[in-house]
Amino acid sequence: MNGIYLLLGSNIEDRLKSLNTAVDMLQASGALVQNHSAIYETAPWGKLDQNWFLNVGLQVKTSMEPHDLLRACQQVEQKMGRERNLKWGPRIIDIDILYYENQIIDSDSLIVPHPGIPDRKFTLILLNDLAPDALHPTLKLSQSELLKYCEDQSECLLTKYQLDIDLA
Ligand code: ATP
Ligand code: CA
Ligand code: CA
Repeated sequence: MNGIYLLLGSNIEDRLKSLNTAVDMLQASGALVQNHSAIYETAPWGKLDQNWFLNVGLQVKTSMEPHDLLRACQQVEQKMGRERNLKWGPRIIDIDILYYENQIIDSDSLIVPHPGIPDRKFTLILLNDLAPDALHPTLKLSQSELLKYCEDQSECLLTKYQLDIDLA
């Protein structure tokens, strides 16, 4: 992979506003958005009895090292009132680090590439928008190949929602 990729998701309250707020706060903390995917409306994954999500993928530029970027993402989640209770439960905002260049990280608090990538259509669709030909650093498959082979049948609908940002 070339670049640093984040996944943002929201499924309670004003989902589009939450994505925009998170983008603003990430940029203020030093993760500048260079590119973003379309916004998709996606069926919940893992825990099905909850609202659909809005998801967007970001390519960001930052001088933060991976664990500092994770802390910055978690601070945004906390400031926005994310409550950690149910695993895969409803959330005002979820920010995951998908890829950090070609780095492979396996620490207690951070796993990169995000282990859910190959199994989650809603994630691969965003990555396929952003970097279809870039290779997963360990699986050595491109994002478009991973999407093609992914067996996840969950629905992912392209929306006309737009992020309210100017790209870095
Ligand atoms: P999933 O990670 O399966 O999408 P989730 O996003 O619901 O589930 P959270 O409750 O948001 O999970 O996060 C649980 C923990 O995951 C965090 O405290 C964080 O330390 C850890 N984590 C490990 N790898 C990553 C990563 N690549 N991006 C974000 N968090 C990560
Ligand atoms: Ca997640
Ligand atoms: Ca998360």
